[in-house]
Amino acid sequence: MGHIALKKVTKSFGTTQVIPPLDLEINDGEFVVFVGPSGCGKSTLLRLIAGLEDVSGGAIEINGHDATHIPPAKRGLAMVFQSYALYPHMSVRKNIGFPLKMAGLDKAVADKKVADAAAVLNLTDYLDRRPGQLSGGQRQRVAIGRAIVREPDAFLFDEPLSNLDAALRVNMRLEISELHNSLKTTMIYVTHDQVEAMTMADKIVVLRAGHIEQVGSPLELYRAPANLFVASFIGSPK
Ligand code: ADP
Ligand code: MG
Repeated sequence: MGHIALKKVTKSFGTTQVIPPLDLEINDGEFVVFVGPSGCGKSTLLRLIAGLEDVSGGAIEINGHDATHIPPAKRGLAMVFQSYALYPHMSVRKNIGFPLKMAGLDKAVADKKVADAAAVLNLTDYLDRRPGQLSGGQRQRVAIGRAIVREPDAFLFDEPLSNLDAALRVNMRLEISELHNSLKTTMIYVTHDQVEAMTMADKIVVLRAGHIEQVGSPLELYRAPANLFVASFIGSPK
């Protein structure tokens, strides 16, 4: 189950409101992309959902329960950080298994989960390497593996491909889409890249200065952009 609802959520830093009251519903199993220019509040919104930031107002519901004040580790969500957040001194196996070790899981059970995640991500042959001995794409897959083993209700990605080169980005885009097809878990994916949004999303949320300009499928946004901002941002011929 990965149903998430934001109800009149606001966020201010000091006296500056960066998220005005915002409502949004994310359905179980959806691949939702938050897209918009730099500084529009994408990361803030994701961090509010993850619980890494406290809301200033409003509520966040996860699977029908008020999660507004639930700490991040107990929300059942897994944030995928950029690959440089890996532990350089630990093997791939230990990096992927780290959340399970922290949770005190039985080692045999943990090892099995790590092996399963590695298989899904084509990392089986790399389990004994360290991050420094991997390519950028492999490192990003390790970061995703660390989220998979937690079996979250939703994956939260914040521009996970932004430090990969263009060719690798296309590859990883396909891999993340395939992962969504096989796991069928809710994914929320933040990007400023229109192409990523249009090719990966079931539902695109176009943000501008902290508010939602439009929500819709890639086709809906392309065919009927709500305004010029959406049209020019997603490259629609309006
Ligand atoms: P995006 O991810 O879309 O680039 P952010 O969510 O990072 O945008 O930032 C949205 C706005 O909130 C920006 O104006 C940014 O400067 C501001 N902001 C983000 N985090 C903080 C913070 N911890 N303190 C003060 N301002 C912040
Ligand atoms: Mg950001």
